[in-house]
Amino acid sequence: MSHNILILKGDGIGPEVVDVAVDILKHMGLDLNFSEAKAGYACYQEVGDPIPQTTIAAARAADATLFGAVTTPPDIPNYRSAVVTLRRELDLYANLRPVHSLGLTGGHYREGLDFYVVRENTEGLYIGQEEDFGDYAIAKRLVTKKGSERIVRYAYELARRTGKRKVTVVHKANILRLTDGLFRRTALAVAKEYAEQYGIEVQELLVDTMAMRLIKDPQNFEVIVTTNLFGDILSDEAAELVGGLGVAASGNIGEHGAIFEPVHGSAPDIAGKGIANPFATLLATVMMLQHIGENAAAEHLQAAVAATIRQGTLTPDLGGTANTARVKEQIISNL
Ligand code: NAD
Repeated sequence: MSHNILILKGDGIGPEVVDVAVDILKHMGLDLNFSEAKAGYACYQEVGDPIPQTTIAAARAADATLFGAVTTPPDIPNYRSAVVTLRRELDLYANLRPVHSLGLTGGHYREGLDFYVVRENTEGLYIGQEEDFGDYAIAKRLVTKKGSERIVRYAYELARRTGKRKVTVVHKANILRLTDGLFRRTALAVAKEYAEQYGIEVQELLVDTMAMRLIKDPQNFEVIVTTNLFGDILSDEAAELVGGLGVAASGNIGEHGAIFEPVHGSAPDIAGKGIANPFATLLATVMMLQHIGENAAAEHLQAAVAATIRQGTLTPDLGGTANTARVKEQIISNL
């Protein structure tokens, strides 16, 4: 079956890492139709909008979008973040972060991890409703039954699809009694259904305990599901356990689109030098292949990435001496 893939290269190293992914996908001989659209700061300089309506429409129409990274200029008032706008416009409510050990060493790296962090992507403290009262300021936190139910269901369906047997629901309902109280109640109702029908176990943890347990016994987690801010923090904490920014990939998934991207930014300090690390983008590509149902290709690509890492063909940010082109060559050879 043919799939329509939208490519948004973005700024800085975005085009360098996305080009590697597209070349590798073409090499794999899959039935993919690529199209390209513009987003980011260069796009803003060209057409006056970092995320034009045509790009949003193209992302909505595509089966999946592969996104590089964009530069967000700090000094332009009311500048729209391309990624945040896409998430909102397409209602990409699930943010998915796989945490898989791929053979890196050093730092906080832990071998043998294989779990997911599922983060609600549209509500919580990130709805942008803050008010400044001079000596104090207030941020509103939105939790809805619908939003909680669909994210928890997403987590359980992911567990089912990937053969996981336990979902950990993370909240702070002892303090945030109304907002997280609603999230917790809704989550536990969904959990009951999946326990009865599929025997998938539920575990409940307060977010502070979760933060400690991620360091203490991360091997005991399979799928973690939580609200927006907690998920943002926990997914970066978890990423450090398997190699950090250089291998962190993310998916933003909804009913009307799905965008896969590396977690890192546009790295302007190394753009154009040919040393950008493409692993995170390739792992985002693996997620994209899983999303469109090309599971065998996804496994194949992930295995080639893991083999390349274990062989020590690494870019300087991961302690190696290879450039971007050399990493690509090695992955193609491993494929
Ligand atoms: P960054 O992730 O771009 O870079 C942080 C550090 O990591 C830099 O030293 C960079 O060289 C290095 N790095 C990042 N990705 C790398 C890669 N693939 N290979 C090798 N080294 C890599 O974060 P930043 O410097 O805080 O932000 C730079 C720009 O990116 C800013 O404009 C920021 O707003 C934007 N940003 C965009 C996204 C996104 O598009 N999703 C995410 C984060 C930051």
